[in-house]
Amino acid sequence: MAKDPASLRMLTGDRPTGALHIGHYFGSIRNRLRLQDSGAEIWQLIADYQVITDREVAGDIAGNVRNLLVDNIAAGLDPEKATIFTHSSVPALNQLMLPFLSLVSVAELQRNPTVKDEAKSAGITSIGGLLLTYPVHQAADILFCKANVVPVGRDQLPHLEQTRVVARRFNDRYAPVFPEPGALLSEAPLILGTDGTKMSKSKGNVVELRMTADETAKKLKGAKTDSDRVITYDPDARPEVANLLTLIGLCEGVDPVAVAEEIGDGGGGALKGRLTDAINTELAPLRARRTELEADPGYLDEVLRRGNARANEVAEATLDEVRAAMGMVYG
Ligand code: ATP
Ligand code: MG
Repeated sequence: MAKDPASLRMLTGDRPTGALHIGHYFGSIRNRLRLQDSGAEIWQLIADYQVITDREVAGDIAGNVRNLLVDNIAAGLDPEKATIFTHSSVPALNQLMLPFLSLVSVAELQRNPTVKDEAKSAGITSIGGLLLTYPVHQAADILFCKANVVPVGRDQLPHLEQTRVVARRFNDRYAPVFPEPGALLSEAPLILGTDGTKMSKSKGNVVELRMTADETAKKLKGAKTDSDRVITYDPDARPEVANLLTLIGLCEGVDPVAVAEEIGDGGGGALKGRLTDAINTELAPLRARRTELEADPGYLDEVLRRGNARANEVAEATLDEVRAAMGMVYG
């Protein structure tokens, strides 16, 4: 990864399948904001076509796009610095996918462990064409703006590797057009949900950023722990308890081991109570800002309109470069 923050160009994205949760907040959003503060160029994708990779219909896609827009801005993404855009509004992205698909093999796509996991969690037995190829579609999302840094959770690492492979093969076969972007993993690359598996919008095991303090308390009360009353920090033997301690550590900026010692034999109730307070304190400003933003739909529409216009300009320019590198310039 390049060292000078001003030479960093970040792209990251979320699927509009629901509202953002604390897994996103600690797993990715904090890094997005750090990069924004350090002067990096920021591209924030709302990956709407990716919704239909693991389900038949897109559901309340417009409502969920709005949720992502509000969550990201409320968390601190600044539309004056960041380009926020929807994939479906940028047709050149899909044009980039065709040459990119020619650079990968079916066997390589079938080996992607995240695609297999996602198919399994969605109960899909026969993987469809879009689910199989979406890591390539995502390569176009990342490479069109020549991003060189991508803040992600751990599940995204195989996809980022696929993007690097696509960039390298394109550059080798045609001309050096693309950077090979690096992943930026957070200190919390895999936050578990209340059922002890990866926290995911699609699974309902989430603490959403937009929840009220009471909803947060209720949700965390139901979080899975274990039968040992004494709280200890042991991620291998006690992953659910360690996850809750990690979250307290992230909110309060303290060591989870020290938190475990403080709680001691207070048990799961004390652990969850402390986490509820920590999360509600951490998210209070974001939640207040969220309410303000929701009252101003005209502003939100304008942010997305401007972001989509800018993304189209840059994607068209990259597509021209790609066609030129391939010799597809006529007349
Ligand atoms: P879905 O269930 O619809 O796939 P999701 O909760 O997995 O939703 P995505 O939109 O797929 O969210 O992911 C957006 C980004 O957030 C990705 O970079 C992903 O790695 C990161 N992320 C998602 N869930 C977690 C988590 N539990 N812990 C850390 N990072 C996460
Ligand atoms: Mg996901």
